[in-house]
Amino acid sequence: MRKDRILITGSLGQLGSELAPALAGIYGKDSVFISDIRADRQESDLHYISLNVCDDKRLGEIVDKYKITQIYHLAAILSAKGEQDPHWAWQVNMDGTLHVLEIAREKNLDKVYFPSSIAVFGSNTPLHNTPQHTIMNPSTVYGISKLSGERWTEYYYQKFGVDARSLRYPGIISYKTLPGGGTTDYAVDIFHQAIQHGSYTSFLKRDTRLPMIYMPDAIKATLDLMEAPAEKISIRSSYNLTAMSFTPEELAQEIRKHLPNFQIDYAPDFRQEIADSWPASIDDQQARDDWAWQPSYDLLSLTQDMLLQLRHKYNINGTSDTHEQLADTLI
Ligand code: NAD
Repeated sequence: MRKDRILITGSLGQLGSELAPALAGIYGKDSVFISDIRADRQESDLHYISLNVCDDKRLGEIVDKYKITQIYHLAAILSAKGEQDPHWAWQVNMDGTLHVLEIAREKNLDKVYFPSSIAVFGSNTPLHNTPQHTIMNPSTVYGISKLSGERWTEYYYQKFGVDARSLRYPGIISYKTLPGGGTTDYAVDIFHQAIQHGSYTSFLKRDTRLPMIYMPDAIKATLDLMEAPAEKISIRSSYNLTAMSFTPEELAQEIRKHLPNFQIDYAPDFRQEIADSWPASIDDQQARDDWAWQPSYDLLSLTQDMLLQLRHKYNINGTSDTHEQLADTLI
């Protein structure tokens, strides 16, 4: 039996910076190889490889050299950033995904993970409780590339037997690494601004409802999907996934329960149009049925933990405070 050896592309981003240590916890530090195009890498005790996913030759060399058996292909240009340079976003998102799938076929890799997004849906998709199988007419280059990636993922599974698996993440909220240019980024920025300045200007309207997930749940879902026996995986395009849905106003109200003087105002920009084309809530019953998906965090527990962690990060009330003391300082 060969040993699992994992390559993560785009590993320095919001998701990779937390998924990499989680994978290292399972497979061991020597079995997880992190890669990214960025030069400004943070200190990590994992083996770092510089890799542009558009370079398929180098990707193949890395897979051979490090005897890689699984790829978690996170590298992508996200929704808001992608609209600023659509051709570049298409190239990174499509070329990267095809290179990973093709190398998985050629080199007979055990598994591939491809993260998709709620951006695959569009303005003709049912807005509430969006079903797993439904109309998909994405209007951003990011959404078009993720929907194409889903189709290729299923194609490689059906035609070549590549064990590729995928989740349609909603907006991911986390405190360790800032998000990389998506439309749900407001739901992270708001916490940083609330803690540091007591106010926030939202780039989405007060009543824009979007599906969201807290990072620990996003990691859990990813690992559970990838660990599930192959016969449990009935969806080979990408699974709907969600934990909660809320509007900027509802999030602000939740933050005010802890920081009563918190102020929010609204200055919608080009991201409003993107958000208006996305679902308000998601039906993820298939993931619950197939591999027992169950989120742990809701809006209340997410808000409490984000504020606690960021107070600690920004050294509010001193870093020597224990978790419990910090919790006490929150109302
Ligand atoms: P991010 O923008 O924070 O990180 C992406 C990483 O990819 C960055 O570190 C970037 O340097 C790297 N990258 C960009 N171009 C590259 C290239 N050519 N070669 C190699 N690396 C390159 O994104 P994230 O939030 O960590 O998202 C990870 C994955 O999850 C993406 O595929 C994204 O589409 C998907 N996703 C994220 C969210 C979310 O809310 N964060 C929601 C849905 C789906």
